[in-house]
Amino acid sequence: MGNLEELPSFRVNGIAHRFIGYELGDFDRIQFMSNLKKTVESAVTIIGDIPYKQYTFIGIGPGQGGIEHLNNTTVSFDGRELNTADGMNSMMSFLAHEYFHHYNVKRIRPFELGPFDYDKENKTNLLWVSEGLSVYYEYLIVKRADLINEQTLLNNFESSINAFENNPGRFYQSLAQASYETWSDGPFGRQGENANKSISYYDKGPAVGLILDFVIRHATQNKQSLDDVMRLLYWQYYKKLKRGFTDAEFQQACETIAGISLASEFEYVYTTKELDYNTYLAYAVLKIDVQRATEKERRKFSINQIEKTGELQSAILQSWLTSQIKVQ
Ligand SMILES: [Zn+2]
Repeated sequence: MGNLEELPSFRVNGIAHRFIGYELGDFDRIQFMSNLKKTVESAVTIIGDIPYKQYTFIGIGPGQGGIEHLNNTTVSFDGRELNTADGMNSMMSFLAHEYFHHYNVKRIRPFELGPFDYDKENKTNLLWVSEGLSVYYEYLIVKRADLINEQTLLNNFESSINAFENNPGRFYQSLAQASYETWSDGPFGRQGENANKSISYYDKGPAVGLILDFVIRHATQNKQSLDDVMRLLYWQYYKKLKRGFTDAEFQQACETIAGISLASEFEYVYTTKELDYNTYLAYAVLKIDVQRATEKERRKFSINQIEKTGELQSAILQSWLTSQIKVQ
């Protein structure tokens, strides 16, 4: 309802995608829709199936945040932000995140998240999958759509890692606890005097996503990845069983794809064990460097390339950056 503007729609696999909104502002509408189409195509490539008949982005005016649904998302939107490269990048990441949610959380979903009993809280240990891995994929989706370069992709991961690693809450609350306690902590962790006792799964989630993706790629000689886990969950639980997955089933899906036990990697989910980035980044010719000028200052993590490269490691980096769909 209201005085809305509809931008020129586009089709992906023959299916219409629309953008409709309120007070969109001044920006290059053609460029924006061209970027949005690449973003949607890049996200669809990860799962390889479009489960709706039409999809609509609904801009609700300037503000913060969005809400995902099965065949649309409502998003805060101010087109004036698109007039700088950084503004366009962050808007496309945000739209990639909200769009990817139609898979990850609406269809690929934790057991507890639907059908809902709206009379009580629906608590789950797995918001780090639904939200954290949606952050992980928003970064990859815009890179694989060629909307950002490799350096910007790594910078995006650095910002999540820096936020997490400078939060003392990492010694108090695990990723699973942060998920479960979101009803009392709030979506980004506790605020006020207890802020240092909690973490945000939006920050630690993508860091653990990186570890899971690289351990799977390494264990399978780059034949499988976290994308295969997402596809397995989609086909097995959403399409076939028509239900969500439990904590154990999520880990099992990762281990089935990896072909090895991931018990020590899942300690990063269920305990506060410190993340050993370098073991996993090295699988893709990457490493993390940490700088801190004084004891009181924030630590600054940066992701860099390792100079000496092996063939498998280079191949893992390349396919992580570009990833092609495999035929089911
Ligand atoms: Zn989200």
